Amino acid sequence: MTKNDLRWQSIQTCDTQAAGTFVYGNMADDLYHSPLCRNRPTDRDDVQFFDTPDEARKHGFKACNACSPDHAAWLVGASRWM
Ligand SMILES: [Zn+2]
Repeated sequence: MTKNDLRWQSIQTCDTQAAGTFVYGNMADDLYHSPLCRNRPTDRDDVQFFDTPDEARKHGFKACNACSPDHAAWLVGASRWM
């Protein structure tokens, strides 16, 4: 399994451990999200993984309003979306 396989899996399972370790850009909505966002992507082909929100922005994605990936996602154990 690759690193991105594991990341995809943690999105699917809402793994709280994944919060703050990466964000993902969804090409379907042009937004980047915390791994715990409740707007989960359905198609992995639409998803790009980034180590930081900064990197996602450089690729043209904007922060999601629902999960505030710039802020809340980086708090360890953030679980208010569960
Ligand atoms: Zn989101």
